Amino acid sequence: MKKILQDLSFAELETYVLGLGEKKFRAKQLYEGLMQGKAITEITSLSKEFKARICEEYEDAPLKIKEIFYASDGTEKYLFEYADGHLVEGVLMKYKYGYTQCVSTQIGCRMGCAFCASTLNGLIRNLSAGEILAQILAVNALHKADAAGKGAEARAVTNVVLMGSGEPLDNYDEVLKFLRSVTSETGLHISARNISLSTCGIVPKMYALAEEGIPLNLTVSLHATTDEDRARVMPVAKAYKIAEILKACEYYFKKTGRRYYFEYTLIAGENCDEAHARALISLLKGKPCHVNLIRLNEVKERDLKATADKEAYRFLGLLEKGGLSATLRRQIGSDIGGACGQLRASYLEEKA
Ligand code: SAH
Repeated sequence: MKKILQDLSFAELETYVLGLGEKKFRAKQLYEGLMQGKAITEITSLSKEFKARICEEYEDAPLKIKEIFYASDGTEKYLFEYADGHLVEGVLMKYKYGYTQCVSTQIGCRMGCAFCASTLNGLIRNLSAGEILAQILAVNALHKADAAGKGAEARAVTNVVLMGSGEPLDNYDEVLKFLRSVTSETGLHISARNISLSTCGIVPKMYALAEEGIPLNLTVSLHATTDEDRARVMPVAKAYKIAEILKACEYYFKKTGRRYYFEYTLIAGENCDEAHARALISLLKGKPCHVNLIRLNEVKERDLKATADKEAYRFLGLLEKGGLSATLRRQIGSDIGGACGQLRASYLEEKA
C-alpha cells in the first residue's frame, strides 16, 4: 500500500509540492481538492502530469464507499474499503441541527467486549489519521448538496462521534492527529465541542487526553456497576477498575471544564434491574456527567438479549428519580445493522 496524502498537514503538503518543483499555489489547489473528498486524479485544476507524478508515491484515493445502506429513518450506513482491501463501516445520522457521522478508528478491535460485533475477529490494524479523516471527506462529498457554510467551510457533516469500530484510545497517536486535523482551521474545521470520543476506559490514555487541551466530549462505556459484573462483558475491566475510571473522568472535567458521559447498554438479565439502578445512582450522583442508555443491538454471534422497551424506560425513570441526568438513546438504523461492526461481520461472512 502506498502512502496517502490525507495524512499530511497543509504545511507538509506544501513542502512536498515545492519539492516536486511546483508552485506554492498548486499545494492549495491539491489540498482543497482533497478536503472536498476528491481522488487526486479527480482534481481538475491540476495537470495530468503533476497528478501522475504524485500517484507514483501516493494512493489516488485512501478509500472508496463500497456500499450504502439506507434505513427507513434516514440513517445511512456505509461500508468503506481501504486501499489494501480492508473494510470498515460508518453511520450517518441526520438531525435537525446537522449531520452526525460515526467513524471507525481501527479495522477490527482487540477489546473483546461480549456484545460487540467489531471485535469478533480481533484487531486487523490501526487506521491512520488520514484514513479516519477520509471517512468524513467521502461522506461530505456524497452529501455536497446538503452542506451548510460557504467555500472551504462548506460541509454536510457537522458532528463526529468516534464510536464506530475500534477503540480510539488504543490507537492514540493517530486518533490525536486526526482530531487535530479535523478541527484545524485550514481543514474541515469541525468544532471539538461537536466531537465525541467513546472509550472502553483505558485510564492512562484518558489522562493523556485530558492534557491535550482539546475540548471534546469524553464518553466512557460503562455497562456495569461493579468491576466483577463489568469484567463479564468487558475484558478491559480486568485492567482498569471503575473507581480509577471515575477518577480519570473527574480529572478530565477539572482540566477541560467539560462534563463527561457514560454509555450504558441495557442487557436483559445482566445490568438493568432495580438494584443496578440504585448502584449506578450511588456511583454517579452529584458528578458532572450524563448517562446515555443504549438498547442492545442484538448481534447474532452473541447470545445476549436486548431489554424490553418497558424495562428500558423503567430503568431510565429510576435513574432520573435518583437525581442522575440520563437519556435513553433513540434507536436508529437498527433495520440496517446499526451496531458497531455488524455490517462488516455479515459482509465477511457472506464472502467466506
Ligand atoms: N471502543 C469504544 C468505541 C466503540 S463502541 C468504546 O468502547 O466506547 C461504541 C459504543 O457502542 C460503546 O458504548 C459500545 O459499548 C456500544 N456497542 C457496541 N456494540 C453494541 C451493540 N451490539 N449494541 C449496543 N451498543 C453497542
